[in-house]
Amino acid sequence: MSHDHDPRAIRTEALERLLVDQGLITSAAIDTIIERYETDVGPLNGARVVAKAWTDSEYRTRLLNDGTAAIAELAIGGAQGEKMVVVENTPDVHNVVVCTLCSCYPWPVLGLPPAWYKDPAYRSRIVREPRKVLGEFGLTLDDNIEIRVWDSSAEIRYLVLPERPESVIDDDEEALAELVTRDSMIGVARIDA
Ligand code: FE
Repeated sequence: MSHDHDPRAIRTEALERLLVDQGLITSAAIDTIIERYETDVGPLNGARVVAKAWTDSEYRTRLLNDGTAAIAELAIGGAQGEKMVVVENTPDVHNVVVCTLCSCYPWPVLGLPPAWYKDPAYRSRIVREPRKVLGEFGLTLDDNIEIRVWDSSAEIRYLVLPERPESVIDDDEEALAELVTRDSMIGVARIDA
């Protein structure tokens, strides 16, 4: 389901144009706000979920069994995250998320999708040649690591539970959450500490 012709998207664009035309706001200011939601505000929630899963094995089990419910335990949820499935990276399996049809993305845990996530090239190539595309992101995976590509939809949104860096021993959840990047929760990066 494409969101490009969504009445809400059209309305939003019309509002932005009106605000810019009236001199009330600049497009640059709007871009700054959007970027903040892409890279800072949004992924913080996902990072909290990941850090808790790393430090609490019972929470991790609940998270993998029912992502939506376990994420809601942290008072995180809402539109574009009604049905969450969490997939776990292990030494043998690497997960990566795409929306081949458009740009479905788990807003409550990751905020707004980055531009490349919406790019038709990423959407088609990550399915056909995931190892190569991940390599272009700077993530080189050994041939014996299985790559699983998850196709998000309007119904189901995926979150990758990245591997915890072995070098970080302290179970300080806040400090751990700071290590967790947006890209690691989409699956195009790992976390190195
Ligand atoms: Fe979509």
